[in-house]
Amino acid sequence: MNQIRLKALAKINLGLDVIRRREDGYHEVKMIMQTINLYDQIEIKKTREAGIKVKTNLFYLPCNENNLVYKAAKLLMDEFGIRDGVEIDLKKRIPVAAGMAGGSSDAATVLFGINKIFGLKLSLKDLMERGVRIGADVPYCLMRGTALAEGIGEKLTALKPMPKCHVLIAKPGISVSTKFVYENLHLEDVKSHPDIDRIIECIESGDLKGAAGSMGNVLEEVTIPAYPVIQDIKDAMNRNGALGAMMSGSGPTVFGLFDDIKLAKKAYAEIKSAKLAKQIYLTSIYNNRR
Ligand code: ATP
Repeated sequence: MNQIRLKALAKINLGLDVIRRREDGYHEVKMIMQTINLYDQIEIKKTREAGIKVKTNLFYLPCNENNLVYKAAKLLMDEFGIRDGVEIDLKKRIPVAAGMAGGSSDAATVLFGINKIFGLKLSLKDLMERGVRIGADVPYCLMRGTALAEGIGEKLTALKPMPKCHVLIAKPGISVSTKFVYENLHLEDVKSHPDIDRIIECIESGDLKGAAGSMGNVLEEVTIPAYPVIQDIKDAMNRNGALGAMMSGSGPTVFGLFDDIKLAKKAYAEIKSAKLAKQIYLTSIYNNRR
C-alpha cells in the first residue's frame, strides 16, 4: 500500500465537568465525548525521498513540526526507523481552535494511517498509548463513538451509543484560547456542575430527549460572559426547537441536537441570516468505533 485517504472526525461534548485542578496545573475532567459526521480529509502518500511534507488548505496552519499531523507521523516513523518519507495532504473543515478536537483527530488519523501503509501491525491500544503523548484527546479520537473521558481526558470508558439525531454546529467568528478558559475557571465559584451520571443513564437507556435536556458544560460559566454571542447562538437553537444546545469543549463552537430535520434547518437559517456564526454545518451523530 502506497497511499491512503482517511476521514478525521470531529467530536462534541455531551457533558463536560471539571473535578479539580491538579498540583501540576492540569485539570481533572469528566466528559462525555461523542463523534460526529464532520471531518477533515487526510491523504497520506509514501515517498522515496525521506522526510515528512505537510500540505494544508488553511494558510494560517503550520506545515512544520508544529502541525499535529507532522508530530503523529514523526512519532511512529522515528520509533520504527522508517527511511521512506511521507506526504500528508490535510483538507480542514473542522473549525480550528474551537473545542471540537480537530487537531487531535488529525493526529489520531495519521497514527492510524501510518500504521496501515507501513504495515507496522500496532493494535488500537498500542496506537492509543502513543497518541496520548501528542494530546489528551488523541486516544479518544482513535476510539470514536460515545465514551466517558476522565483523568485529563485520556482515561476512557466506552458507553452505549448515543441515540441518532441531527447535530447543528455553529462556530462564531471569534477565537477562544483554551488556556484563557481554564485559567479563569475558579472551581470554588462555579454555580452549577452538570450531572454527568444522569446524562450517561439517559444515553444508556436510549432516551435522546433526556440526554439532550440534561447536557451541561461547566466551562460555559467562563466563556459565555466573555463572548455573549455563544449565548445568542444557543438561544437561536433553543427557540427553533433544539432538544438541547451547548458549547463544545472550551468553545466557542455551539452545537444543538434536533430530532426533526426541519427544525434544525430553521435554526441554521436563522443563525445564518443573523450572522451569528462564521461556520455552520448540519450533520449527525457518528457511532462506529474503529
Ligand atoms: P480541543 O477540542 O482538543 O480543545 P481545539 O478545537 O481547541 O481542540 P484544534 O483545532 O485542535 O483545537 O487546534 C488548536 C491549535 O493547534 C490551533 O491554534 C493550531 O494552530 C494548532 N494545530 C496544529 N496542528 C493542527 C491541525 N492539524 N489542525 C488544527 N489545528 C492545529
